[in-house]
Amino acid sequence: MNVAARKQELEQNKLAKRLRRQTGQAIADFGMIEEGDRIMVCLSGGKDSYTMLDILLQLQARAPVSFELVAVNLDQKQPGFPEHVLPEYLASLGVEHTILEQDTYSVVKRVVPEGKTMCSLCSRLRRGALYTHATVGGFTKIALGHHRDDIAATFLMNLFFHAKLASMPPKLLSDDGKHVVIRPLAYCKEADIARYAEQRGFPIIPCTLCGSQENLQRKQVGRLLAEWDREAPGRVDQIVRALGDVRPSQLADRNLFDFHALGRRSSGALPDTHAWLGGEPAGSREELDDSTAPRKNTTQADNGLAILAS
Ligand code: SF4
Repeated sequence: MNVAARKQELEQNKLAKRLRRQTGQAIADFGMIEEGDRIMVCLSGGKDSYTMLDILLQLQARAPVSFELVAVNLDQKQPGFPEHVLPEYLASLGVEHTILEQDTYSVVKRVVPEGKTMCSLCSRLRRGALYTHATVGGFTKIALGHHRDDIAATFLMNLFFHAKLASMPPKLLSDDGKHVVIRPLAYCKEADIARYAEQRGFPIIPCTLCGSQENLQRKQVGRLLAEWDREAPGRVDQIVRALGDVRPSQLADRNLFDFHALGRRSSGALPDTHAWLGGEPAGSREELDDSTAPRKNTTQADNGLAILAS
């Protein structure tokens, strides 16, 4: 092997090792996998989900606990979807898999007006089909391929466009309380995943088959993050790290921190301070000024699932 080839091999090993380490770290930090888990690995045919499956298989081979991985793809019947690609790939790996078929494409086309983005409804329908399958198949966890950059982008989208501090959690309980969703690539950079997918030669299925336009807000935020990371490398990491270091007393959410109790000297019921300070009791501000009104608390499930749809 010549020097250039050796160097390339070393680089590739380093990248694979980094992705394994970061994935393992996220799994450990959030208690994503335990003995006896039956994990449904959602595979779309994109670089992220291929990488997730690949890394999980590597970790499974060396894990001290035993768990099952089953790859599941939902064929949404987009025109031109190459249905043979995933089954052939998965069979070549010897991985247990299921291809679900549900024509959500026709539903979305019928319901969403021409020119509008279809992703929100499409994702909701996909989620419904996958959750139903998870119940029927007795899966204990559902693994999705979202990565660090998705988490940062979701956080900024919520901040800029929905006035809330929320992102896409690495682990989440579905709204109905029946499913635990995990995101093992939560610490992995998209650029690393893209390089890894290229090196491994995954048979990528383009995600443009449906002809839908990417959500405009997501596009804007993506551009912003890319620009920031060029100007100040490490900034996206900082955003994601900040999500793990939340300080309720340094924010202004009265549902998370009891500001009234701070420095309070009396123990009896408080008078309605709004009455003499000219403010408005909580609950009535929203009607007066929508832009500054306190938001109602959302659950982790709300946050994560909202983003799945984007
Ligand atoms: S791009 Fe949007 S509409 Fe098209 S398949 Fe993906 S989520 Fe669905």
